[in-house]
Amino acid sequence: MIYPIVKYGDPVLNKTAETVTVFDNELKQLIEHMFESMYAAHGVGLAAPQIGISKRIAVIDCSFKEDASAKLVVINPEIVKKEGRQTHSEGCLSLPDFRENVTRAMKCTIRAQDVDGKWFEAEGEELLARAMQHETDHLNGKLFISHVSALKRDLIKRKIKKLQKAGEW
Ligand SMILES: [Zn+2]
Repeated sequence: MIYPIVKYGDPVLNKTAETVTVFDNELKQLIEHMFESMYAAHGVGLAAPQIGISKRIAVIDCSFKEDASAKLVVINPEIVKKEGRQTHSEGCLSLPDFRENVTRAMKCTIRAQDVDGKWFEAEGEELLARAMQHETDHLNGKLFISHVSALKRDLIKRKIKKLQKAGEW
């Protein structure tokens, strides 16, 4: 099942998502749907609030289907270690067509539960580290535009308002 992606302006994106406590088949199904929805939207990461579900779940695949082992599911994730810095153009499926340079840690370690509730740690570098930080932010109600200057952020917000008025958002 492919869910529509929730766009900036929907309050679900600003909320702290709820901790997942039940690891059942329904959760596994939801995760499959999240991967499908992410691929359909041509993304490399998707957090549950982006499909309107305020739960601490995110899926990542920086290989975009090229490498099955690159599929990463993080439930109740936390970034436990950050190293170095990288600045790159970043976008978000919930802010289509907007990209800005964002500085994030070059390397990070994420601690999360898997689909069965088992805790694990995974390390990421470059794009994967960026995705881990971006998706964890989503679960804390934070979008990438909170990492850009107030001036750029206001400009983006104004453009979105215009699009909303025109019924194009
Ligand atoms: Zn995003």
